[in-house]
Amino acid sequence: MSRILTRSIWVYHFAAAPCNNCDIEILDALTPKYDAERFGIKLVGSIRHADCMLLTGVVNSKDLPRLMSIYQQAPKPFFVIAVGTCALDLGIFRGSYNVVGPPDKHIPIDAYVPGCPPKPEALLSAVVKLIEKVRNDTSKPGKKKVKGIKKL
Ligand code: SF4
Repeated sequence: MSRILTRSIWVYHFAAAPCNNCDIEILDALTPKYDAERFGIKLVGSIRHADCMLLTGVVNSKDLPRLMSIYQQAPKPFFVIAVGTCALDLGIFRGSYNVVGPPDKHIPIDAYVPGCPPKPEALLSAVVKLIEKVRNDTSKPGKKKVKGIKKL
């Protein structure tokens, strides 16, 4: 993994199919109260400028092609943090007719933040722990295995 990413992680927010409370907590974490920028964490509007994706909600049949397309455009190495119970195990959306599974069924996830919704402190803690993980990882950079888009 690239240690250069430990200096300042720029994040891109992808809301798959959440109830939006997780998204509100992400915005809260970026406010001056929690001051994510002191860790170099900055929200960017394009996946091409990002080092990490914050992913909320479950993936449904409409989201999946978009998620795969966006992930493939991300510069590598790239990290994904699944935010909220829905992104971990479908949460309240389990059993919904159009859900195609939790995100880790489709793309590699590097960190999970449980909670419904998780607090801003938990989000910041996850990013900081991810930075520590990258810093301590001595393995050579390699391509992550990405599962292909399944026919829906
Ligand atoms: S984990 Fe909870 S707050 Fe987050 S999107 Fe799912 S239902 Fe909403």
